[in-house]
Amino acid sequence: MAVTEPRIAIIGAGPAGLMLASILHHNDIPCVVFERDSSAIVRAQGGTLDIHEYSGQQALDAAGLLDQFRALMRQGGDTIKILTKDGTVLFDNSGESREEFETEIKGKFVKGRPEIDRPVLKDLLIASLPPNTIYWGSKVISITPVSDSKKWMLEIDNDSHPAPYDLVIGADGAWSHTRTFLTEQQPMYSGITALDVWLHGVDEAAPDVSKFVGLGNCFLFDKDRVLLFQRNGQGREGSARCYVCVKTNTPTPPSSAALLGLEDEGAEVDWADARTREVFVQRYFGDWNAEFKRMVLAMTGQPVLRPLYMLPVGLEWESRPGVTLVGDAAHLMTPFAGVGVNVALMDALELARGIINCVETGKTDGDALAVMLQQYETGMFARSRKETAKTEAAMHLQFQEGGAEKLTNMVRAAGPEPEDLTYE
Ligand SMILES: Cc1cc2nc3c(=O)[nH]c(=O)nc-3n(C[C@H](O)[C@H](O)[C@H](O)COP(=O)(O)OP(=O)(O)OC[C@H]3O[C@@H](n4cnc5c(N)ncnc54)[C@H](O)[C@@H]3O)c2cc1C
Repeated sequence: MAVTEPRIAIIGAGPAGLMLASILHHNDIPCVVFERDSSAIVRAQGGTLDIHEYSGQQALDAAGLLDQFRALMRQGGDTIKILTKDGTVLFDNSGESREEFETEIKGKFVKGRPEIDRPVLKDLLIASLPPNTIYWGSKVISITPVSDSKKWMLEIDNDSHPAPYDLVIGADGAWSHTRTFLTEQQPMYSGITALDVWLHGVDEAAPDVSKFVGLGNCFLFDKDRVLLFQRNGQGREGSARCYVCVKTNTPTPPSSAALLGLEDEGAEVDWADARTREVFVQRYFGDWNAEFKRMVLAMTGQPVLRPLYMLPVGLEWESRPGVTLVGDAAHLMTPFAGVGVNVALMDALELARGIINCVETGKTDGDALAVMLQQYETGMFARSRKETAKTEAAMHLQFQEGGAEKLTNMVRAAGPEPEDLTYE
């Protein structure tokens, strides 16, 4: 039978918040999730996510979702090609030589870094929750401590939720409102902006692009410029995506117009116009192999500008009873080590374990919950320090001269199950 205490509110229905809700539900512990988006599909979700054996997959297992994940992950999605800007192939495990690197399904967990499309992962998690768990279109606008207690009140922009919560968990991403109750630290611009461009129905629309991107990832590196091609979806519905990453060397991110070098920085950018795409590609990739430029030019879907922000390595705060953070809200990082979502899912797993233990031992008063949060945060700080440091090192390596060669050596050294690369 489901317990009624503690009352738990999760703010944000991203991977971290949904994963936490799903594990709790799997253990008969109810919670509510407030999400400002009106639905799961209202916003462009972005690309594919690699779910690691020793982190993300452990969380899915704790929610009873590992088998479903295995059925939904993309076979071959973890293949990697690494090229230099002149077309030299440094690494490719997508062809005959792939045998050695094949995604291995050994026992319960999938070896390596199997990929799943972000909307597919979110749908899986949403479907695992009972109806009325997620309040869509519900932006949390204030969180207030209840005096003489360790509880918190929430104010939602479209509704009232008058009863106080014993636990408020901020899974509200990069610009977390919940974080402001714990630390003044705001995300910093990494100096890199990605233009997220894509092409729907790539197999039919552009078979050459489809072949180039392959089943998984195709990465190209040069100083201050990186192209990260990836496949999303499958078959007729499949698309190819490229994060066109530019080191802007500016203290703040540029607008789309500024990125393209337009004089009017506020001007509307018409990406459907082939000339606009050509100006952009020529501006940043003028001396790159013509083939690669053609691949980016083929991505005609309306792009999303993604300035990349990060929180400092090793961010910590003094624990407060009744409120904590999971995922990007706690340790936002750039995507260059491909670990952000895995750390987020580990947070969800570790916090869920703490809550389950409190419930099972009947220790759900404010003091016991406060101790549990402190223990969760101690573990999370240690984990996120390691992963944010790795990510920062990966970012510097990939945007430097000779970065492609260095990354290739690391991938080779890591072998067939490259879950954990060591960046120097
Ligand atoms: C371009 C790019 C590529 C990436 N690729 C990878 C990868 O390959 N592998 C990997 O491991 N990681 C990757 N990441 C990182 C990964 O996407 C994040 O770490 C992950 O999405 C974090 O999940 P989250 O649930 O913490 O936050 P989010 O996904 O940001 O979810 C937060 C949710 O909270 C909601 N919200 C915010 N404020 C409020 C509010 N006040 N009230 C209610 N709801 C609110 C938001 O609408 C959102 O739905 C990538 C990131 C980017 C930008």
